[in-house]
Amino acid sequence: MIAYTIYLPQIKGLLRKWSQEFEIHVPTRAEGDFFEFRPWTQEVEIAWDYDLAYTTLKKFFLPPKEDILCFNMKDYSANPVINAPRQLLLGVHPYDIKAVNQLDQLMDMDSPDVNYRARRDNTLIFGLEPANVADTAFWSSMGAARVDFGFDLYWTRISPGAFFVQVGSAKGEEMIKLDGPIEKSSVAQKEAARRAHLKILAQAEKRTLKYDWNRVPDQVNKFFSNRTFWMERAKTCLSCGSCNLVCPTCYCFDIQEEADDLLKQGKRYRQWDGCMLTGFAEIAGGHNFRASAWERYRHRYMRKGKYIFDKLGELGCVGCGRCVRACTARIANPREVYNDIWEAIKNEI
Ligand code: SF4
Ligand code: SF4
Repeated sequence: MIAYTIYLPQIKGLLRKWSQEFEIHVPTRAEGDFFEFRPWTQEVEIAWDYDLAYTTLKKFFLPPKEDILCFNMKDYSANPVINAPRQLLLGVHPYDIKAVNQLDQLMDMDSPDVNYRARRDNTLIFGLEPANVADTAFWSSMGAARVDFGFDLYWTRISPGAFFVQVGSAKGEEMIKLDGPIEKSSVAQKEAARRAHLKILAQAEKRTLKYDWNRVPDQVNKFFSNRTFWMERAKTCLSCGSCNLVCPTCYCFDIQEEADDLLKQGKRYRQWDGCMLTGFAEIAGGHNFRASAWERYRHRYMRKGKYIFDKLGELGCVGCGRCVRACTARIANPREVYNDIWEAIKNEI
């Protein structure tokens, strides 16, 4: 593993260099106790110790609304629209990198999503070891406390003024050397990074699943037909879709078209959709495959706990805790649902 040590005073110079080539986005303190990724400028203060970005970073690869095609109805021509800015995300926590790694696989599967791929290829990810854990997070028990790939650099703060920076790609190494000579990390600095990881892991492990995440698919599948369980849990669901929209691993979208008043030109666009919304599974003729809130609620946990596992071999939940925060009915917590299923099955045995 190649690693360098970067000192706080070096970072501004690097950011200035990087900003000549990339739009840089960094974690910043937003309203109250919330944090959000925002474009970096000289005046922006980076929240190195943030616990969780309120909205998901998937917006950098799959924007909430995006034109994908423009067409001309006079000459029957159509052209794809691909907007892929060169962007650099500095300070991405490992659970969010894991979520991007999942999206990378899912969006490339079967019929590759060219808009997603173009944005992803133009984006550098500089990971950051968390220094705090959100009070809704449970990523340590979802296999998301560490990532081995999906980043160009991975930063760990090893003292108030220094970062241990692990190289993840040739481009990452080029970027870290852009503002002059830097120091190779010592064994002691590597050890400091390891200790920083163990420290945050101990904090994260205060909220966990009661069993190994590998067993979730079987457990949730056994509960599929337990209508009473799902109906009881979903009875206060507002079908607002907030849990979908903040989730870094949800990637469903709806495609629409609109034309100008004279029907000469038009565009096709897509925007985020969510399986918790009433119309998500509605088809022509008004039939709805999941007309009830409880069926949609159950589907979300099947999706996170089994269907994505069947495709990728890992859960479709990285334990970030965003849905837990966003749900006003306080019923969207996958850790609670999977733990309750576990308790119920355990008692049956
Ligand atoms: S289901 Fe909730 S906790 Fe899991 S990844 Fe999505 S937003 Fe995060
Ligand atoms: S579970 Fe919560 S956030 Fe999700 S749709 Fe229902 S009320 Fe909204």
